Amino acid sequence: MLRNRLLLLQVFFVNVLLVKSHFISKRAIDESISARIERVLSAYPIIDGHNDVPFTLKKLFENDVSRFDFESNLRDAPVYKEIASSHTDIPRLRQGKVGGQFWSAYVRCDTQYKDAVERVLEQIDVVYKLVEKYPNDLQLATSSQDIEDALKNGKIASLIGVEGGHTINSNLAILRSFYKLGVRYMTLSHSCNTPWIDTANVELNATDDLEPQVKGVSEFGVHVIKEMNRLGMMVDLSHVSTDAMRQALRIAEAPVIFSHSGPRAVMDHPRNVPDDVLEILPLRDGVIMINFYSCYVVQNCSDTNLGTIKDVVKQIDHVRRITGSADHIGIGADYNGVPRVPVGLEDVSKYPALFEALLTESEFTWTDEDLAKVANLNILRVFRKVEEVRDRLKNEGKPADNTVFKYYEEPANAEKKFSLEPNPVEVCTSGVERNPEEEKALFKGKTFVYQQKYY
Ligand SMILES: [Zn+2]
Repeated sequence: MLRNRLLLLQVFFVNVLLVKSHFISKRAIDESISARIERVLSAYPIIDGHNDVPFTLKKLFENDVSRFDFESNLRDAPVYKEIASSHTDIPRLRQGKVGGQFWSAYVRCDTQYKDAVERVLEQIDVVYKLVEKYPNDLQLATSSQDIEDALKNGKIASLIGVEGGHTINSNLAILRSFYKLGVRYMTLSHSCNTPWIDTANVELNATDDLEPQVKGVSEFGVHVIKEMNRLGMMVDLSHVSTDAMRQALRIAEAPVIFSHSGPRAVMDHPRNVPDDVLEILPLRDGVIMINFYSCYVVQNCSDTNLGTIKDVVKQIDHVRRITGSADHIGIGADYNGVPRVPVGLEDVSKYPALFEALLTESEFTWTDEDLAKVANLNILRVFRKVEEVRDRLKNEGKPADNTVFKYYEEPANAEKKFSLEPNPVEVCTSGVERNPEEEKALFKGKTFVYQQKYY
């Protein structure tokens, strides 16, 4: 009897020890994952491709940064209830291990042919105002070296990306001026066609949506891309049509980026990138920075169907599978620009959670180097190569492009200076003489239809 009792007691203690050691080992694994991510992201902080804080400043404060307290927690401040998202402030950027941010200078498509240039200058200006107001945390960066310097200083490298090619008003002098103001990427379109490139929205197949106007990139668009390469401004293909992506990848001499897009095979939306484009992305050594917008992450997104962090891991896995490595993946969450984000990625403080999920949910085994590439090494490599192409073209003596955008009464009259397949047709607008009625006729009245915003 006593022996039995002793035996029972022994079994009990062994079980207690086993259960305890199970929890200890599980916690040890969890701690090692978060500690590992902490270590990797401390050495290689996130450089995010797209954040719309400047547009938040425009919408809420008419760009008066004195009314904006970026050092406070902006999650619950009442004024932000007026907008769909308030994902970003300095404390949360720090928590999220962010070391670099491309702040988006975005202006709406309904400014096209009107005040787009003026509006985008305001958005560039407000990035400067923001950086000047917070010198302890933000540092302007206009080169890959600047990013590295900011990282060394423990600052968040602050870069400017212009969103929407309509903002150059089909004028290469304006493009060059943007570069001089520090703009280091331009998204070639937004939700509208510009006269020289088609938007992704042409693929929505809705009754009243846009139709392709130039079947991808027009001849003038070729000049825009090549001039961006000459300047050292990254070509951003988020928001353009699939034909435009394919053509731009052939035209560009330097690597291209998708500053905030996902893979279309995982979530079928024209804003996402199809596999055939992802397959050729490595040939241009480009990078696709993954967008967190719920509606580009899961089918039938809604307030009750936001997707989760695992859905974003699936997207990253898909890009890795199709491109063949971790060399072409980055993060371009689109925070402050989208009304819905996946569960687990609620704001800029959550980037580390995504990296932890890559270690626990992914079909791939991620080395520290792979993680560092996604966090910042890939976009830094692309940026450096874009600068190298700029330097080479300068050494070769390539001059500024003096092409002036021409107004063609009929698309068929377009000059054919470049042989691209499919052969682009120049449809155009008045760069010089503005005649809204003629423009409207050329675009069949559809240029000005913007029922939906795509982020
Ligand atoms: Zn966007």
